[in-house]
Amino acid sequence: MKIYDVLILGAGASGLMCAAHLDKKLRVAIVEGNEKVAKKLKISGGGKCNITNVQVSEANFDGDSELVGYALSVFSKEDLLLFLEQNAVEPEIRKERYYFCKRSADEIIDLLKAKTQHCELLLNTEIKSIKKRDELFELQSAHGVLRAKKVVVATGGKSYVSIGASEIGLDIAKSFGVKVKEFTPALVGLTLQKEQFWMKELSGLSCYVHITVGEKILKEEMLFAHKGISGPAVLSASLYWQKGNMSIDFLPDMNIVKLVEGNKKLLSSAIPLPKRLSKELLKALDVEDIECRKLGKTALEKLVKIHDYSFSPAGNFGFTKAEASRGGVLSHELNRYTLEALDVSNLYFIGEVVDVTGELGGYNFQWAFSSAVVCANALSLEQF
Ligand SMILES: Cc1cc2nc3c(=O)[nH]c(=O)nc-3n(C[C@H](O)[C@H](O)[C@H](O)COP(=O)(O)OP(=O)(O)OC[C@H]3O[C@@H](n4cnc5c(N)ncnc54)[C@H](O)[C@@H]3O)c2cc1C
Repeated sequence: MKIYDVLILGAGASGLMCAAHLDKKLRVAIVEGNEKVAKKLKISGGGKCNITNVQVSEANFDGDSELVGYALSVFSKEDLLLFLEQNAVEPEIRKERYYFCKRSADEIIDLLKAKTQHCELLLNTEIKSIKKRDELFELQSAHGVLRAKKVVVATGGKSYVSIGASEIGLDIAKSFGVKVKEFTPALVGLTLQKEQFWMKELSGLSCYVHITVGEKILKEEMLFAHKGISGPAVLSASLYWQKGNMSIDFLPDMNIVKLVEGNKKLLSSAIPLPKRLSKELLKALDVEDIECRKLGKTALEKLVKIHDYSFSPAGNFGFTKAEASRGGVLSHELNRYTLEALDVSNLYFIGEVVDVTGELGGYNFQWAFSSAVVCANALSLEQF
């Protein structure tokens, strides 16, 4: 009977990175439902994979900051970039913030494939459940029963079912009594209530804004879409918004009062935004589009709301459009230093299946890779 030392469930970003960092002496198999590895990585960042960010800290993640902080200390952004550079992958910085592959996400995928040659790769193998019998884990598969001493669950989140995403990671956790928070869509566009339907009229337009959700301020572009609002600022805001209000500053770093003071132009021409947007905003704020210097006190009071347009989104675009899933295996169920389940020895969880979600900007791959290395280091120190 063939017994693996480690069975990694999921050949995505975290599963492959974990396998790549495991002691080469170990007998490892990676089980993947798709006919290819890393399909999400392949389509990420518009096909060029935004792999990490110039600025990475616990503050960029929704999740247990101590768990995230430890993982980032073990495999930081610098460690990731060094790992890539040593293997001839040199991402470029875009917009002074985001690290992207120069040519395509295949640069990373090919590297991960090359680094996991020592592992058995079992493709087209859907995982339905896993059991533990006499200290060994058993997985019923198209390749027969796979047995392993240790299992790493790296099956990711629920978004983009069309490329193999599933909730199996949470089902496995629950079947072993490990507590989870159900997945909900994150990094996703938001739908609007009737009062904000004017934004839909601007479909295709984008502008730089600051969006405030609770304590968080997201500074990026927002995009007006047919279904609602989207773009980087909104996607990151969606990570922190559950319900209730958020607020948009349409003219960040400017002062509308100063802009209009003594100005002879029409308001919609004086506001430094695309004209269509200025006009719709004025209607939404109930301010007449007149010569700036003719504005009365009441109109001015309404106009300053351009810095604090507060509203409550209706919902979000759902898992088919979401770039990540919020929720997952609860952090307090895991040993922070190994990512092993505290109450189920030899069962580990890494990547998006854990209740940690990053903002838009390369943070989710950073988490997938950092958590993968924490787990791989811990496993490589174990006796088999
Ligand atoms: C369109 C899109 C763009 C994105 N762009 C970026 C970006 O630019 N930067 C960034 O940081 N993040 C991005 N993300 C998020 C990022 O892709 C994920 O957070 C990351 O891939 C998570 O890694 P993971 O290893 O946990 O899961 P995944 O990479 O999703 O890997 C999980 C693997 O498990 C397999 N699997 C799942 N269920 C089963 C099953 N039942 N049986 C067998 N196999 C199974 C899946 O097929 C998959 O290969 C993007 C996501 C999407 C959807």
